[in-house]
Amino acid sequence: MNGAGGACPRAPGDVDVGSARPRLAGVRRRHARWDSLTEGERYAFALDDMEQLFGPVVRSEYTGVGATQSRTRARYALGQAAMFTPGQLHDLHPATRTVEGRVHFAGEHTSLKPAWIEGALESAVRAFLEVDPR
Ligand SMILES: Cc1cc2nc3c(=O)[nH]c(=O)nc-3n(C[C@H](O)[C@H](O)[C@H](O)COP(=O)(O)OP(=O)(O)OC[C@H]3O[C@@H](n4cnc5c(N)ncnc54)[C@H](O)[C@@H]3O)c2cc1C
Repeated sequence: MNGAGGACPRAPGDVDVGSARPRLAGVRRRHARWDSLTEGERYAFALDDMEQLFGPVVRSEYTGVGATQSRTRARYALGQAAMFTPGQLHDLHPATRTVEGRVHFAGEHTSLKPAWIEGALESAVRAFLEVDPR
């Protein structure tokens, strides 16, 4: 692992995610904060976020009843997706998509948009074209 944080090695089917990086970093920071809260603390956190979107009506309409969940702390989920540490995407990305004989690998983790549906779909197209390039 070099941790250089440079540009990821690209291959046909990969797309530039440069413009999405600041947004992704923000989302991951929010996830980490959410995961550190207790069940009770999450309500205030969620209400603050929803108030920014919908205004003060959120608090007046809140009944005090709800449910929250931390994916990372959920017993069976243990997270939402693989979260690469700095440098890991650069180092591991080429290997995640290496064809092994007749076996082709697809899935969000093989894309340059890990943890997103868009990455899963792009990887599906890439794997399909590997199998049938016509
Ligand atoms: C709670 C949550 C919220 C999310 N929100 C968003 C969002 O808002 N926007 C967004 O873009 N992305 C979101 N994602 C991420 C997105 O859902 C995933 O990135 C995407 O679904 C991954 O698709 P995939 O095809 O790579 O893998 P998956 O959808 O996980 O598909 C893998 C499939 O393989 C099957 N499987 C596993 N092992 C085997 C086996 N041995 N044999 C046969 N089948 C097997 C599984 O059952 C599963 O159906 C969210 C994910 C979660 C969990």
